[in-house]
Amino acid sequence: MSWLGLTHKGVEPLFPEEWNAVVDGLDILKQYTDQSVKFDDLKALPSDIVPAKTDTYSLGKPGVFWLSLYARNIVTGDVHFTDIKCALCGEEFREGEAIIFIVLERGSESIRTVPVHLRCALRHGYRDF
Ligand SMILES: [Zn+2]
Repeated sequence: MSWLGLTHKGVEPLFPEEWNAVVDGLDILKQYTDQSVKFDDLKALPSDIVPAKTDTYSLGKPGVFWLSLYARNIVTGDVHFTDIKCALCGEEFREGEAIIFIVLERGSESIRTVPVHLRCALRHGYRDF
């Protein structure tokens, strides 16, 4: 029996109430597909995007990144970096170490930076801070 309460009848004709159940089922399916998010809906959203549940969903994942994220303000808890090694000494950062950023590239509207140990920056003569 189907979710509409219909059974397979082979070549027997459907009774009117069975046809009505089929039409009702198609209407339910159409409403469902009309409400689902389509690719075109995501190209330019005229609204906020809010996850259904806090601390549950991700945008991207390890190894699968968005190329660029543009935002005026970013409000966050912890900040994570994929650069886990100091750009000056090559050692991996350890918990409790102080880091700063060195500007690698100056674009017209942004800078690109890398994290380094504070001690390495001082050792290499960075004293602009
Ligand atoms: Zn270092």
